[in-house]
Amino acid sequence: MPDLSGKAVIVTGASRGIGAATAMELAQCGASVILAARTENQIKHNAQQIRNHGGQAEAVICDVSKYKDVQGLISHCESTFGRLDALINNAGVIDPIGHIATSDPAAWKQATSINFDGVYHGIRAALPIMMAQKYGTIVTIGSGAAHSALEGWSHYCSSKAAAHMLTLCAHKEAAASGVHVVSLSPGTVATEMQVLIKASGINPVSQMDHSDHIDAEWPAKTICWLCSEGASEYAGQEISLRDADIRRRVGLVSE
Ligand code: NAP
Repeated sequence: MPDLSGKAVIVTGASRGIGAATAMELAQCGASVILAARTENQIKHNAQQIRNHGGQAEAVICDVSKYKDVQGLISHCESTFGRLDALINNAGVIDPIGHIATSDPAAWKQATSINFDGVYHGIRAALPIMMAQKYGTIVTIGSGAAHSALEGWSHYCSSKAAAHMLTLCAHKEAAASGVHVVSLSPGTVATEMQVLIKASGINPVSQMDHSDHIDAEWPAKTICWLCSEGASEYAGQEISLRDADIRRRVGLVSE
């Protein structure tokens, strides 16, 4: 378990799934965590759970598709903790699953503005602070869908591909200031997103069994590791939890 004592970390999409597990794991590693999402009672509940376990956590309502919300979130972290050591760009949606020819333009655009604009908003607001302090890590939660076209997922594949490229571009611009930007492709994870995918019945991912997916604890532990010096060689890259070497490096499986 990496030692993240004294670090201030923001996790977007922390109301459930990978984000909630990551917030808990980061706190167990000693970090002070800000949990952000739209569902107030859920992030407040998760933050309380962390405090009940002796950790430091706060909940901030934030819709990542709105830049003002994200700016407010980042400023809150800076004013509360005096710094921002890591930002986990985790918020994302799979809905609306469906074919392009029958898609609702407003719903399609809303999904891409969460999955892509949301990542841009986080990086845009965090970089000036991290570059000034000459330290920081930004982790974007990517997806295999960024590199593989899937029926019914045009909004998801396109926005994840765009977020992937943005993450690599951000690293090019920030690395010289000591800021690491990295992407994690988690594989398939047993969260509510996979429940929605299964219910859609579209494309091979929906045919997978819930037991085929990894537990959210795996990406959570991997994200903590990515926030530590031990993972600095992977900055500017996308790593995948399908990669057996990465699973070993994080300590998820034995040698
Ligand atoms: P999940 O259980 O559905 O959780 C998604 C989270 O994103 C929730 O906390 C949700 O909170 C938040 N969110 C959605 N829209 C938001 C918005 N506009 N502003 C702020 N927060 C928002 O899904 P998950 O599986 O944990 O997914 C987390 C990330 O992993 C996503 O980026 C997803 O694309 C990626 N991923 C997942 C899988 C998988 O198999 N599960 C595979 C590859 C990548 P609110 O609704 O409360 O706002």
